[in-house]
Amino acid sequence: MAQIIDGKAIAARLRERVAAETAVFREETGVTPHLAAVLAGEDPASAVYVRNKQRACEKAGLRSTSHRLEDGASQEELLALVERLNADADVHGILVQLPLPEQIDETAVLDAVSPLKDVDCFHPENVGLLSQGRPRFQPCTPAGCQHLLTEAGVSTEGAHVVVLGRSEIVGKPMAMLMLQKGEGANATVTVCHSRSRDLAAITRQADILIAALGKPRFVTGEMVKPGVVVIDVGINRTDDGKLVGDVDFASVTTKASAITPVPGGVGPMTIAMLLQNTLTAARLQVNGSSPAPEQRASGSTGRRSPPGG
Ligand code: NDP
Repeated sequence: MAQIIDGKAIAARLRERVAAETAVFREETGVTPHLAAVLAGEDPASAVYVRNKQRACEKAGLRSTSHRLEDGASQEELLALVERLNADADVHGILVQLPLPEQIDETAVLDAVSPLKDVDCFHPENVGLLSQGRPRFQPCTPAGCQHLLTEAGVSTEGAHVVVLGRSEIVGKPMAMLMLQKGEGANATVTVCHSRSRDLAAITRQADILIAALGKPRFVTGEMVKPGVVVIDVGINRTDDGKLVGDVDFASVTTKASAITPVPGGVGPMTIAMLLQNTLTAARLQVNGSSPAPEQRASGSTGRRSPPGG
């Protein structure tokens, strides 16, 4: 039977570490890191997510405020709110809870968040820095998956990591993290999506399989090889109200060497990473310091001028 990777316990330890570092930061600077959450519309799930994030902030000694706009709010109103928060020196991190109401252009709003306050790591500048191996912020869910692998003692060095899904929030940054030079990365990465042919032939090659498709119990035991390590990012609600992942836990667990459960796997990590990024944002704005050493990929970027450049 597979080792169960306990995301709840690992996230709790990470939150404790962030709380301890936050206490030191407050002591040294007199500043409390402050996360501002923007919630537009009446989506009940979003309201719950924002409340959970705020509660986690408060428990770790960070300040959190929420900024609500009505369902019918215009793009201008939302952009004006983001601009106010950008300009407020007391706010260090800005989180825009997705999805936004349909009349609002999500990309325009996310691009408007100051890159120094972009604790979700969605801004093109931060995505670019990440892809060059010098991240300012860690993409929360993918970094949570990486942390789970490290804490479970899974070596990614030279491993074939197959990522199912190519979204901007999970799949792409996940692949990017695994591809970096340095510890917890250095993997050979394959990214699959809805147009990939013969998916099972690819997933069976995975030493580490990261599923982020949003399809309940999609990955079955026949799609994996014995000994695989499985990280299940999916959160899906079944008709009977149960939460299930993108992986069919029952059949995959008999073949895997380690697997994350749903719930209690990746989910708790996302919030812990958000707290960590809020502290990083406060450090950047108050001290102007670069990210903590463990957040930086090691080695040269290997960049060269293009021929003739
Ligand atoms: P998206 O819907 O944005 O992306 C899904 C990806 O899966 C797409 O790239 C899509 O391909 C691909 N895909 C869909 N169906 C198939 C298929 N049959 N075969 C191969 N690829 C397929 O989802 P997200 O990335 O935002 O989220 C994925 C899951 O992770 C969801 O269940 C979500 O709830 C969960 N999630 C969990 C978080 C956590 O904290 N634990 C945080 C964020 C998300 P294509 O691009 O071609 O459409």
